[in-house]
Amino acid sequence: MIKTIISEGLPVDEQLIIRKNTIQHGNGTKRICIVTGTHGDELEGQYVCFELIRRLNESIEHLNGTVEVYPALNPLGVDSVSRGIPTFDLDMNRIFPGDPNGHLIEYTAFKIVEDLKGADMVIDIHASNIFLREMPQARINVQTSRKLIPFAKMLNIDFIWIHDAATVLEATLAYSLNALKTPTIVVEMGIGMRITRTYGNRLVDGIFNMMRKMDMWHGAALKNISKPTVSTKGEVHFLNAEFSGIIIPSVSHSDIVKKGDLLCQIVDSYQGVILQNVFSPVDGLLFTLRTYPVVYEGSLLARIYSETTEK
Ligand SMILES: [Zn+2]
Repeated sequence: MIKTIISEGLPVDEQLIIRKNTIQHGNGTKRICIVTGTHGDELEGQYVCFELIRRLNESIEHLNGTVEVYPALNPLGVDSVSRGIPTFDLDMNRIFPGDPNGHLIEYTAFKIVEDLKGADMVIDIHASNIFLREMPQARINVQTSRKLIPFAKMLNIDFIWIHDAATVLEATLAYSLNALKTPTIVVEMGIGMRITRTYGNRLVDGIFNMMRKMDMWHGAALKNISKPTVSTKGEVHFLNAEFSGIIIPSVSHSDIVKKGDLLCQIVDSYQGVILQNVFSPVDGLLFTLRTYPVVYEGSLLARIYSETTEK
């Protein structure tokens, strides 16, 4: 059943409408929420919403609980291919938990949080941006890691990145919901403005696996769930461009790389010369890789998680 969370008039004629699809069956009281589209250019979650609802409808008799799917928390952004909220020039993931007495967008954020509050699990799906490709991963704040890691491990992803307290952005949806004791996991995967069907299918399998473990799904679920690497023992290395130019990749994504492996080259397409050979500084898991070929000095090229300590 499709329900409207918010419906507010815009200055002339148009409306801001946020809706969710509630799929409910059985007497189970467990409720999970799948949300996406906070950043309007991140569309990997659209496929997850579609495929999750399609599979649920196909075997609804196996559901014992409630699944709520919110494909677009920032529908104006999704519809107009813009990352933030058009005309307000706002990153929607920096205004939570919102304000019931605030302006339209703050009020919208407040209504979203009110609607999600109390769920047994919220999965907030993001898709990087158009520049970087991410392997399927969960991002979790260290303060909530004990509670959330066991659930993130159920999601059929490759990597769980635990952020330390210093990097926490308090105005995100996930932080706000976790602060309200509503467990929320951020999943990052794929790339902006694209759909990577294999990643989407993996996460949908993971969500069904999680529902099984939560005793709200009694139908088929994938048996061989991926065992993600958890970033508790090692550290994440950031690789940045030393020159502006064009990057030519040398490795495929989601690779285990060795120290000294050539990851990509930054080249000058006027002179036909190589400006920088980018080598991996460590043995590790290449979980973020730049795919957009134009780089400026300082641009992020890759992130590698490594458990080996450098001496
Ligand atoms: Zn995002």
